[in-house]
Amino acid sequence: MFSFNTCVSEGCTHLAVTGSPHCLAHTEQSEGIVASVTKQISSGQPVGSVILTGTQFEDEDFSNSRLYACSLSRNIFINCNFSSSFLQLTYFVFSRFINCTFEGLTVKYAVFAGSEFEQCTFEGSDIYHTNFLGIGARDVNFNDSDLYYSCFTQAQLDNVSFQDCNLKKVDFYETKRSNVSFKYSNYEEAVFSRD
Ligand SMILES: [Zn+2]
Repeated sequence: MFSFNTCVSEGCTHLAVTGSPHCLAHTEQSEGIVASVTKQISSGQPVGSVILTGTQFEDEDFSNSRLYACSLSRNIFINCNFSSSFLQLTYFVFSRFINCTFEGLTVKYAVFAGSEFEQCTFEGSDIYHTNFLGIGARDVNFNDSDLYYSCFTQAQLDNVSFQDCNLKKVDFYETKRSNVSFKYSNYEEAVFSRD
């Protein structure tokens, strides 16, 4: 598991990033740290317990990455490719994903709570026990995916497609949905109310 050490700058409550006693905003080596972590993730080798928050990634190829117990929360990802990646117990809390591809992803226990997704695809993925609590998703495609036991509670879903998905035990309680398709999916096994 990643370390919960906070930044040593006075009054700062953010987690210290990997390779520094500071958060990214307070370190003087931010460029080097971002480059080093980007290289590690892109290598396709297993990456464990890395923390990198508060930055922006653009046009990065993170396909076939393997992340274990990492925290990549509070980041912005634009045009990034996570296809065929494997995520286990990895955090992307309060992040933004714009035009990102997650096709053929395998996820076990990831947390995307509070994140925003625009024009992203998760088509053909296995996403188990994953937390999408309160996300905002616009023009997002989960078609042909297994979302067993994942949670979308209080999410705002606009133009989101869950066609031909396994939705067993998927939680859609208090979601706001506009133009959401569950065609060919077992939505009767999903959870929409608490009674
Ligand atoms: Zn700090």
